[in-house]
This record gives sequence, C-alpha cells and structure tokens, in this order.
Amino acid sequence: MAIREAVLAPKTFLDTLIHEFMHRYDYEVLKFPTSLHTAGFYYRLGDVMKKLIGQETISNYGKD
Ligand SMILES: [Zn+2]
Repeated sequence: MAIREAVLAPKTFLDTLIHEFMHRYDYEVLKFPTSLHTAGFYYRLGDVMKKLIGQETISNYGKD
C-alpha cells in the first residue's frame, strides 16, 4: 500500500493567495459590488505575479 502526500507547489499556493487577495481587494478597497473573472482580473493577477516572482501565473486555476 502506497501512501501519497499531496504537496501544494509554492507557485500554485502563491497564485491562489493572490487570486483570493484580488477578490478581497475588489470588494474592500475598490468597493466593487462584484469581483468577476474578467480578462482584466487575470491581467492584474499576472502583473502582480510578474512583479513578485518574475513570471506570470499559471492560472488554470480560478474558473470557479
Ligand atoms: Zn476567483
């Protein structure tokens, strides 16, 4: 019997964290009534990730 541990890659973790932060930013700071997964939303995620780690997000996540 093999036991596997699911390890979340640091980049995926950061991607998820920034994604959720951006939703919170839309609601709390920008006072948007909604925070949609628009092209601009993903552009901002990519921009932040580029500034933090030098490459854009993988972003296959987020179609929730
Ligand atoms: Zn989302």
